[in-house]
Amino acid sequence: VLTTRDEDTIAAIVTGMSEQGTVAVIRVSGSEALAMAAKVFRPGGRFRLGWEPETHRVYYGTAVDGDENLLDEVLLLCMRSPRSYTAEDVVELHCHGGGVCAGRVQRALIEAGARPARAGEFTLRAFLNGRLDLAQAEAVSELLSARTVAAADSALAGLRGGVGAAVAGLRRRCLDLLAELEARLDFDEDLPPMEESGIKAEIERIQAGIEQALRTARTGNLLRRGLQVAIVGRPNVGKSSLLNAWTNSDRAIVTSVPGTTRDVLHAELAVGGVPVTLLDTAGIRESEDVVEKIGVERSQAAARAADVVIMVVDGAQGWTDADGEIFRSLWGDGPGSSGCQVQGLSLLVANKEDLREGAQPAGDKASPSSPSELLLPLPAREAFSAVVRTSAAQRRGLEELDAALLRLAGAPQLAAGGVSWAVNERQAEALVRSHEALMRLGESVAAGLPLDFWTIDLRSALLALGEVSGDEVAEEVLDNVFSRFCIGK
Ligand code: GDP
Ligand code: ZN
Repeated sequence: VLTTRDEDTIAAIVTGMSEQGTVAVIRVSGSEALAMAAKVFRPGGRFRLGWEPETHRVYYGTAVDGDENLLDEVLLLCMRSPRSYTAEDVVELHCHGGGVCAGRVQRALIEAGARPARAGEFTLRAFLNGRLDLAQAEAVSELLSARTVAAADSALAGLRGGVGAAVAGLRRRCLDLLAELEARLDFDEDLPPMEESGIKAEIERIQAGIEQALRTARTGNLLRRGLQVAIVGRPNVGKSSLLNAWTNSDRAIVTSVPGTTRDVLHAELAVGGVPVTLLDTAGIRESEDVVEKIGVERSQAAARAADVVIMVVDGAQGWTDADGEIFRSLWGDGPGSSGCQVQGLSLLVANKEDLREGAQPAGDKASPSSPSELLLPLPAREAFSAVVRTSAAQRRGLEELDAALLRLAGAPQLAAGGVSWAVNERQAEALVRSHEALMRLGESVAAGLPLDFWTIDLRSALLALGEVSGDEVAEEVLDNVFSRFCIGK
């Protein structure tokens, strides 16, 4: 099992294996790290054999194999326990990038006795050695996989201890409560009569704290997972143009021949800190053309899998019969109807605002308007809570589109820039269990059940809260958390 504590000294290349990297770093961690590094590293300049590196200093030198063959010119950085990532003795060797040098130096270290590190093993040791709590360890991997600045900020807040500290505070209060209840169980007759209302109030306060932490889960999910957004609509309404304008790129082929966007095109952008993957789909319509038919099926599949489906119509033409057909092919008779393929949220974009008669003059902001203005049929009016008017050609209405998407996805606070720590799914699940246990505790108190019953529920609440920080956690949970890391972390 990954999480078994062992005494091995481990080594891994901790930098990405990309060919472009100019520097590669090999990290060695464990009690033998210095001794093993000494077998591989030859200090340059005034340093002699038998020298001991000072902690947190960088030395220039060469790396050699067991036969003293030169492997690379390197820098050595030694971080002695406990002031290192793992809290063990750590030595890092900075080699030339490109993979070959680092690979040779790593092999030399393994010949010198190091064991190749497993995925997540450095961070696991940091956790097992008490350098990081479990929520912080998870934040490390979230930081590495962050796709937007806001996601990185949130992970950083978690790494700085945000989640752990909030939950540890709640856990401490549960512990205090438990201590009080147990004192009653042991020495009831010596203590003043218990104030049930005070205990009930404290339970409710702890529950409120848990609810507050849980409220960050949606934001966290949005930041980590992002949104899959499918852009659908009949050919030529400006889907590809909108994707290009929105992402400021030319990745999607824009053409005036209907039905030429046959493949689903992906583009990544950050909307108010939320990573958004846009899928431009082929125009959905009945088709004899085999290639296009495949495109249509893909569109429907993309729409089914998307978190948000944006239907684009030509705002100058208004809602047409062809739009109605596409709507029915995806939404059936409306949201929730048996023919409805769309699982996620729906947004309507009326594009080509610049061509609309009576539209605001260029320069004025296009604004979200009520669906009725477009004369949507009833099912469509039910599906789309708002219409955003855009001009992809003039890059107008894009900020309104950002805002509408965030509002729809329930992330308005991100747009305002207030990014803080957020619990992940594992943590949220544990928090929900602790909340349920406290709910049962409240019921036991209200029903006047004996104190023993109260402590049972309080203990399960404590256990669940302890799983967030890792104070109380089963080995399979650790395995699950750390196996998601990459090698070198
Ligand atoms: P798609 O088939 O839905 O992907 O549509 P395209 O993005 O390929 O656009 C079809 C045509 O409409 C192209 O000639 C675009 O230049 C044009 N177009 C797209 N958006 C706008 C817009 O906002 N205003 C105007 N006037 N033309 C647009
Ligand atoms: Zn297109």
